[in-house]
Amino acid sequence: MLNLETIYDDYLERLQEERKKEYKEYEEWFSGSSAGSCYKKQWYKIKQFEPEPFDLRTKRLLRLGTIVHADIEKAISEAEPADGVEVLLEHEIKIDEWNVVGHLDHCFLRRDGDKIEMYVSDLKTLAAFSWTSKFGRKAKKQSINMIPTFGHYELQVATYALGMLKSVMPELPNFNSGDHIHYEIDNLKDNISINIVWYNKNDSKMKTVEISTEALHAAIAYWNDLNDFINEDKNIESIPPDGAIGIPMQGWECKYCQYKKHCIK
Ligand code: SF4
Repeated sequence: MLNLETIYDDYLERLQEERKKEYKEYEEWFSGSSAGSCYKKQWYKIKQFEPEPFDLRTKRLLRLGTIVHADIEKAISEAEPADGVEVLLEHEIKIDEWNVVGHLDHCFLRRDGDKIEMYVSDLKTLAAFSWTSKFGRKAKKQSINMIPTFGHYELQVATYALGMLKSVMPELPNFNSGDHIHYEIDNLKDNISINIVWYNKNDSKMKTVEISTEALHAAIAYWNDLNDFINEDKNIESIPPDGAIGIPMQGWECKYCQYKKHCIK
């Protein structure tokens, strides 16, 4: 008898294997999408420890997110861009001084001599519960969305914006060059818009939230600190959860961590 679930799961498994092959040359690089993650988790990744595979339900959820991404990208690619605006979709960013690689979802860019105007956005699909905790009445009452917290997603989209800046403004100092880079970024902040487009998987509501450009500074601080921590060789493998700042970065991380089997003995 046909078992559709098994057929679909095998298909998702094959897609994952193909993706792994595509990223083979970047096995020793940090992924832009992991901005804000536990330092030890980052170390396991670049040292190529075997991660725990995702369960079937998680694989299907991720696939659903990929399908919505592809659809919105198609819609953007078929739309008429404004005059002089370059549209970049699923665009690779590479930041050599941090060993970071990734793909931003959408970027609209206008160049005028030395000046640039840049809009970067990342699409995130959310389940109803997470949507309500972020945008529901209670969250609004507590003004949760007014506080620039710069979690994982904000740092991710800020990292992509920095990657874009690096590619369009090669004269910028390296991001690990000290305070000078923060001054340069501050001078550019009025020309940069960084955004997260939230998509509720339960009722298909969408909401775009612009992130403060302060997140650019937070992302610079995160990647510099991570690189310093790992390069200082503090025998990171022996540090248990909560044994150092950044391990883990957030309380919930260990529960969902794919390297838990190596880390928690
Ligand atoms: S189990 Fe926790 S501390 Fe260990 S690598 Fe994962 S997130 Fe970090």
